[in-house]
Order: sequence, then C-alpha cells, then structure tokens
Amino acid sequence: MADKDDSAAALIERARKAATRAYAPYSGFSVGCAIEAEDGSIATGSNMENACYRLGTCAEISALTSAQQAFGLSKIRRIAVAGGHLGDDGMLVGAQAVTPCGGCRQAIAEASDLADHDIQVISASGDGETVSTTTIAALLPASFGPKNLKDADG
Ligand SMILES: [Zn+2]
Repeated sequence: MADKDDSAAALIERARKAATRAYAPYSGFSVGCAIEAEDGSIATGSNMENACYRLGTCAEISALTSAQQAFGLSKIRRIAVAGGHLGDDGMLVGAQAVTPCGGCRQAIAEASDLADHDIQVISASGDGETVSTTTIAALLPASFGPKNLKDADG
C-alpha cells in the first residue's frame, strides 16, 4: 500500500467494507465511503442505484448524509473512498483508485467551507492496495460555495 498511515488504512478498510453493502446491480461497480470526524467518529455510506438510472446516489453523498446525522458536516476531518466489484468471497476487488465525482467534490467542498478547513480525501482501489491522498481544495480548485451567494437578493 502506498500510504503507510495506519489510521488511513483503517479508514480505507471501513470504506471497502461499506462498499460490500452497496446496491449496484446495474453497473456492478460498488463504492464505499468512510468519513472521519475530528473526534475519530466514523460515518459510512455506499452507492445506491435505481432502475431509473439517473436516480442513483453516490457513496460519498450517502456517507455525507450519515455524517451530518452523526456529528455534523463541520466536524469532518477526512474522507476515504474505495470502489470496484465484489469478488467471489464477497470482498471488494479492483486495482484502480476511485476519486469522488464532480458532484461529490462539490458536496465535500461545502463541508470544507462549513468546517473552515481543507478536508483530506483518500482515494483507494477496491483491493485497498492503490491509494492516492489529496485534499478537496486540490480536487476542486476555485470552487463555488456559500461565499459566492453573498450577492443574492435576500
Ligand atoms: Zn459522486
């Protein structure tokens, strides 16, 4: 594993485990997300597809919703994402690190704005062996956020 941070490895394992509970019968691509709060609490989520394809929900959005319920978006310290498909043993496999989609980057950026600090984003492959660590500010530079609504009427 490229990342030698044991606590990051534990968070990645939580994301991989969450992916095993994804509902992804159409794409066969299961994604899990684990969000860590400043106090070490963890909220997880996975993607959920629908026969009406466009209604699918990303793992990150699912986990962000859980995080808001558990400890609040403003308390988020870092986020781990892992994706792939389920192997014969039911475990997540796959070699490519999964980064949050554009929409999820926007949602993570909103949490970063609320927290008033950058949020670390750990992207892992399904097998957890390939890891890329960056931040939401790097993934979504010059982002649109609450500050951009200052000129709204009302
Ligand atoms: Zn997404």
